[in-house]
Amino acid sequence: MAVQISDLFHRTPAKRIFAGQCPTHGDVDMTEVEQLDGSMLARGCKRCQWEALHNSPRDSEAFARARAQADTERATAALVAAGITPRFAEATFDNYVAETDEQRKALAKCRGYAEQFPAHFRAGRSMLLTGNVGCGKTHLASAIVRTLVADRCRALIIPASDIISIARASMVPGSGYTDRDVVLHLGGLEFLAIDEVGCQKGSDYELGLLHAIIDRRYQAVLPTVLISNLAPENLKAYIGDRALDRLRQNGGLIAGFTWASKRAAA
Ligand SMILES: [Zn+2]
Repeated sequence: MAVQISDLFHRTPAKRIFAGQCPTHGDVDMTEVEQLDGSMLARGCKRCQWEALHNSPRDSEAFARARAQADTERATAALVAAGITPRFAEATFDNYVAETDEQRKALAKCRGYAEQFPAHFRAGRSMLLTGNVGCGKTHLASAIVRTLVADRCRALIIPASDIISIARASMVPGSGYTDRDVVLHLGGLEFLAIDEVGCQKGSDYELGLLHAIIDRRYQAVLPTVLISNLAPENLKAYIGDRALDRLRQNGGLIAGFTWASKRAAA
């Protein structure tokens, strides 16, 4: 059975169909669809929505409402596909709390990267977000992804451990794909943020896989963001000089998150 490799990496929002009652159409199928925060939102009668979109005047309120709902669903689906998780459903640059100079600097770097992305994309310019747990690295990386997705960029943020498990699962007989397919898919996305690099033990296989993805993206001049709790020198020891050099090419940026965690010890 052939597997769509992109389906393994880009989730579609869950949908549930249930029997309902519409005042106009009587017994109908109703649907609810997964929201970015993980909750389900009822969409009402499908026939009403279809008619509002296709049969009502373009200047009617019904059309505007149906159009807005369809646009919202498309935007949500794009963010889910890009790996934005419920935990970071609301993460933007504007709601990142920056109180110290260091925090403001990290925020400005990440916001600048997103705002100047067309130039970074052309140069294949990558970025490293390194430093302490709980300093909001994933928050800011998610905000970058959110910005890029709004501009229809094919972007993905994914923990390194997920890449590794998907690649390992390819070895199960009958999986329908190989770990080479994983490298080719991730190697071709317009933007890739790999989160939690260095949380794994870093076996030869795991590091080889990350190297292959980073190298493939480097050869294709595509930007990669690496997020790690390791300090730069430890990250270098973990991932190796060559991979790190790839990410620092062409003015690759680095944002350090060196202050103590904002998260309470919860
Ligand atoms: Zn209806």
